[in-house]
Amino acid sequence: MPCSCNAPNFAFASGRPHATSGAVTQNHSSLNMSPKNSFSGFVEFTSTFAARPEISHVLFDFDGTISLIREGWPAVMVPMFVEMLPALPGEPEEARRQLCFDDIMRLNGKQTIYQMIQLAERIKERGGTPREPLWYKHEYLRRLDERIRHRVESLRSGARQPDDFLVHGARQLLELLQRRGVALYLASGTDEPFVKQEAEALDVTRYFGRHIYGALDDYKQFSKKMIIERILRENQVPGARLLSFGDGYVEIQNTKEVGGLAVAVASDEANNGSGRVDEWKRNRLLGVGADVVIPDYRDATVLLERIFGR
Ligand SMILES: [Mg+2]
Repeated sequence: MPCSCNAPNFAFASGRPHATSGAVTQNHSSLNMSPKNSFSGFVEFTSTFAARPEISHVLFDFDGTISLIREGWPAVMVPMFVEMLPALPGEPEEARRQLCFDDIMRLNGKQTIYQMIQLAERIKERGGTPREPLWYKHEYLRRLDERIRHRVESLRSGARQPDDFLVHGARQLLELLQRRGVALYLASGTDEPFVKQEAEALDVTRYFGRHIYGALDDYKQFSKKMIIERILRENQVPGARLLSFGDGYVEIQNTKEVGGLAVAVASDEANNGSGRVDEWKRNRLLGVGADVVIPDYRDATVLLERIFGR
């Protein structure tokens, strides 16, 4: 492998300047030996990246990483929090909105109930009497369902195709990984019955088989950390053989904690296929140790060649 993996570096075909802020950058396309192994879009390797031929197990987050069915969920959750959080005297709505947004995004990737527990705590902090976190979760899901119901229905009726709601290039990546013979796992902070239904609607169940996990009513019985520990224990593999893809800090952080390799998918969910990195996600995921940042999977083939070293 070229030494290119040992320094923070970027490779991008069209030189999008917005994607390079706040980091040591290097246009790396000149180091690619041939068009065959060059990236067509944005990719960022951090100094911790090195190829890992030993990768045998691959974990995916679901929403924002594979699925776009729940795209726009913050536009439901944030206003609901703002609506339910009592204002401080003289506090502008924008400040309240920012607080809610930060709370929500800080917990993104964990089960939804943790965001609701946080809301209940904030209400209490401000002298209010919160309802049970589960009540807020149900209310949020009711509101979200209004926004996304037509997507699932359009898939069921055949009006839309599964790939319309997959992060750009996701199916190709899954196919390539399957061909490499690695075991694929899906773990989501969304309730497990929804994850399974939506994976089915997106025709991705076949890549994961039984390995699809989501939040349980008894929320302490599920976490991404628990899933990772189980993968490693049951297969008796060290964390170094784990590769994860995610757009939330939880899966990235948990993967790094066990010594795995973490690819941050800073997906531009509202404009799937734009090739642009979501800067908020990118900064957040670099902050918890992501080894690679990509906007989507347009360069799945060459990305996997770099990751597996072949
Ligand atoms: Mg996600």
